[in-house]
Amino acid sequence: HPFAKLGLESWIQKTCDKVGYQNPTKIQELAIPPLLKKQHVIANAETGSGKTATFAFPILQDLANDPYGVFAIVLTANRELAMQISEQFTIFGSSLNLRVSTLVGGVDFNKQLTELERIPHIVVGTPGRTLDMIDKSPVLKEYIENVKYLVLDEADRLFEDSIIEDVQAILEFIPQEKQIILATATINDDFNDKKLNQILKTNVKFE
Ligand code: AMP
Repeated sequence: HPFAKLGLESWIQKTCDKVGYQNPTKIQELAIPPLLKKQHVIANAETGSGKTATFAFPILQDLANDPYGVFAIVLTANRELAMQISEQFTIFGSSLNLRVSTLVGGVDFNKQLTELERIPHIVVGTPGRTLDMIDKSPVLKEYIENVKYLVLDEADRLFEDSIIEDVQAILEFIPQEKQIILATATINDDFNDKKLNQILKTNVKFE
């Protein structure tokens, strides 16, 4: 199976068959193997490149062995994109009874609070609403301490003024020990280890 070569297990290979992915895309080929080796990765990939599966497959393969919440948090500045990412996680994780919460503006607050009480495996959100929910939901605030993966999607946008403050505030609630995955269409000056470690208040090497 073309996806087996990347190190993905048979249940994910079957998922690929089910959703009609015959071959990995370029970014999947490049980024999935290091992600499975638990490396921190910058994926230079735009929407349409198959970047969601690039980070979702390694996260779900790991989660399947020991499912708990909150296992991963995905941040994106784009509300529409957050909903698409959640949808994809839900499809890929359908055999796992995966719980995914989408924390974006415009969705009823109480509905999100109730959903969070069931402790989602995956949280996908925009920084503003996610920070708001950490403040309002004691469950999220407690369980976010378990996060094993942090995904920053369209990271270039998350690093823009005013958004970055919310991202950094969220980082305060996430453990220092976590695997970081950045996806970005544009690689600017911020995308070197030194700058990234400054921004993310960490000390890691990116592949
Ligand atoms: P994304 O870049 O994650 O927004 O994905 C863009 C589109 O490509 C989505 O509709 C995915 O379902 C699809 N896709 C992702 N990976 C593959 C693949 N290996 N083969 C075919 N389609 C894919």
